[in-house]
Amino acid sequence: MTANGTRQVAWVFDLNKCIGCQTCSVACKVLWTRDEGEKHEWWCSVNTMPGQGTPKDWEAMGGGVDAATGKAKGGHQPTKGEFGGGWDFNYYEVFYGGTAGKAHLEPQAPRENRWAMNWDEDQGAGEWPNSYFYYLPRICNHCTNPTCLQACPTGALSKRDDGLVLRDEDVCMGDRFCMEACPYKKIYFNYERHVSQHCIGCFPRIEAGVAPACVRQCPGRAVFVGYLDDESSAVYKLVKSWKIALPLHAEAGTGPNVFYVPPLSPYRLKDDFSIDYETPRIPPEYLESQFGPEVHTALATLRSEMAKVREGGSSEMLKTLIAYKWQELLGPFTTDPASLTPAAS
Ligand code: SF4
Ligand code: SF4
Repeated sequence: MTANGTRQVAWVFDLNKCIGCQTCSVACKVLWTRDEGEKHEWWCSVNTMPGQGTPKDWEAMGGGVDAATGKAKGGHQPTKGEFGGGWDFNYYEVFYGGTAGKAHLEPQAPRENRWAMNWDEDQGAGEWPNSYFYYLPRICNHCTNPTCLQACPTGALSKRDDGLVLRDEDVCMGDRFCMEACPYKKIYFNYERHVSQHCIGCFPRIEAGVAPACVRQCPGRAVFVGYLDDESSAVYKLVKSWKIALPLHAEAGTGPNVFYVPPLSPYRLKDDFSIDYETPRIPPEYLESQFGPEVHTALATLRSEMAKVREGGSSEMLKTLIAYKWQELLGPFTTDPASLTPAAS
């Protein structure tokens, strides 16, 4: 339950199953951000971690709750260049310009954008043979204590009874205080229409009983959705019962409602290439900086369930994570979108 006694839609991304394919990002993009001024907007974005992410170096941009006052604090307002991407390409020249073999696809203005969503894909960290990375999908966290909402001087943002944080674009004045106060930097600015925009949690789908596009389209069966107080849901079990799904950067104080099953790590190889069973390749302190100190217990719980199964036992937790029946990912939002009648235009 949220502070005001209403329900909360929540997501769980299993980082051990995410393959970084960006299907969730593209599913979201084609549904919601194809209009004027939205070319650079990726409400769902998947980054390689460790990495600088989207926008570039977002984790150092501040925002969130001021621990001393309990109020929203400002931070850096990400620029269009820091989000990057959104280029036009020379399609006409390449495909219709009679330049076969000479012209190649390349970004046109604004070429100065030397960054884009997942620009540092698969770079990660560490030295061969102990290099490492994992993928981190991010959407708006539809926070319980949304500092974006607190920082908005016009009242354009609201938190609905189902916990989704939405914006009334007719009320938004484009002040961008929300961008500064969001510690996850998941708000974009539409420079054409002069309004801020962010993930709407696929609320028209939720209202029709259809799971959000990032959940429904994921080929890795890596994303769960449901109500956080629904004890029968996978989301409830992963977050509340088993405590193996954790919020990202909870220290920001906004009460995020997107949770992550942290990545298990292969062990390091010694100089003679034998396995060092004492040392995971992803430094535990790095994972703690992302998911808090609970990450160690969560990973230990996962490992112990895996050991149980290896010894012939059964694990409801692992069966839930595997999602043999993909509909189990969807919580109560199991309606087939193809069964809906398109709205009259
Ligand atoms: S669609 Fe699924 S597997 Fe692909 S990047 Fe998104 S969460 Fe990961
Ligand atoms: S993630 Fe940012 S934009 Fe989304 S509700 Fe939280 S503070 Fe607001």
